[in-house]
Amino acid sequence: MTTTSTREALMPWDDVLASYDPALGLEVHVELNTASKMFCGCPTEFGAEPNTQVCPTCLGLPGAMPVVNGKAVESAIRIGLALNCEIAEWCRFARKNYFYPDMPKNFQTSQYDEPIAFEGYMDVDVDGETFRVEIERAHMEEDTGKSLHVGGATGRIHGAEYSLVDYNRAGIPLIEIVTKPIRGAGEKAPEIAKAYVAQLRELIVALGVSDARMDQGSIRADVNLSLAPKGTGELGTRTETKNVNSLRSVERAVRYEMQRHGAILSGGSPILQETRHWHEDTGITTSGREKSDAEDYRYFPEPDLVPVAPSRQWVDELRGTLPENPTVKRARLQEAWGFSDLEMRDTVGAGALGLVEETIAAGASPQAARKWWLSELARRANEAGTELAGLGVSPVDVARVQALVDSGAINDKLARQVFDGLLAGEGTPDEVVEGRGLAIVSDEGALSAAVDNAIAANPDVADKIRDGKVAAAGALIGAVMKEMRGQADASRVRELILEKLG
Ligand SMILES: [Zn+2]
Repeated sequence: MTTTSTREALMPWDDVLASYDPALGLEVHVELNTASKMFCGCPTEFGAEPNTQVCPTCLGLPGAMPVVNGKAVESAIRIGLALNCEIAEWCRFARKNYFYPDMPKNFQTSQYDEPIAFEGYMDVDVDGETFRVEIERAHMEEDTGKSLHVGGATGRIHGAEYSLVDYNRAGIPLIEIVTKPIRGAGEKAPEIAKAYVAQLRELIVALGVSDARMDQGSIRADVNLSLAPKGTGELGTRTETKNVNSLRSVERAVRYEMQRHGAILSGGSPILQETRHWHEDTGITTSGREKSDAEDYRYFPEPDLVPVAPSRQWVDELRGTLPENPTVKRARLQEAWGFSDLEMRDTVGAGALGLVEETIAAGASPQAARKWWLSELARRANEAGTELAGLGVSPVDVARVQALVDSGAINDKLARQVFDGLLAGEGTPDEVVEGRGLAIVSDEGALSAAVDNAIAANPDVADKIRDGKVAAAGALIGAVMKEMRGQADASRVRELILEKLG
């Protein structure tokens, strides 16, 4: 492993496209939302005190016997079916042997040559075009624990004084979804990668099998990329960029690796087959560890677990529980909401589709729902380093804020202060309006007095309006709104000014 973070040479984007064909591969890990772990009864709740959700099985103590979580198998089958996969009639778990300090057994219980689901596809929409991504397999495995490196500036192991290990996550059920090499994407490779992960996440949410939070690591994407000389149909040497944890980063990582590979190949050097680390802050990848195809994990069938043999009847029953196809659903919602392609794409890209849908169901208009989630709330989520769903503002709250605006009780500017209150945990929107005294003043006497004050303080402006220069009223409206701390209806203030000076 190396600590270098020096910028490597990049080939101009257009030059990459002129000389090379990219091949993409995406490996997405989905953490299931089962109540208990994959092979033991330990709880799976996120954010518990370290090492409080562990037992002999997930700590790998001698003699502990694992048992497969039936709910996790059900979720795996439903994911497989939603990805148009075949479901194995009989499959086994396998031991993947390697050492990792946060993996207490020194092997990961995974699936090797007998995945639960295989040979599927997902149709991905990019700019109104459909691109078919073929799925090689979706298999079941368990997560590792988490290392915490303490004392360094970066939180990485280099420069740390010591490291701690939290095994709460060890044994949480994971489904790993692996695509076949995606070829023919050309200049759209970054967008297709992003759209695939976005649509996969949407599907996972619709299935209800994971909370699918990229920021909390419950969906993690590894991006494989290689370049081949244009038109040769070859597959070049690939790099594998690990744990890219936002949709935007998936797109950026593909673009970056394409330009980096291009610079190396055009200089006559070979690509080193290795894992790469993605750096969100600088937008670059750095070298991880060398990885060869011949890497030997000494897989062998897990002797402590019985094979999984889902009956065809069960599989058919599960097929009946699949949600509406997300692509069909998106088209239906776009039509019903009257969104443009761009508005719809932004909504999906922000991970806000479900939130907007629920806000509309709670009574807001489609445009109002979209406006709050994609502007005000997206900005706050960004500032807080979380996703919209993790912000703590509910669709019902947003619909209520909009209802207060529609009724004239508050205006958009005051609504932003209501969101401040909601984020600060000051109660419901109505309680925040009450508690902070945000309601618009409809007392005509108070408004009239404020208008008189503004006129008295700005005699020059008042004279202009008397002379018919109505546009000058803006300055007086501003003065009144300032005095009323924004809590006045601007159009009523304007009327009063013109009445008094007309
Ligand atoms: Zn356990």
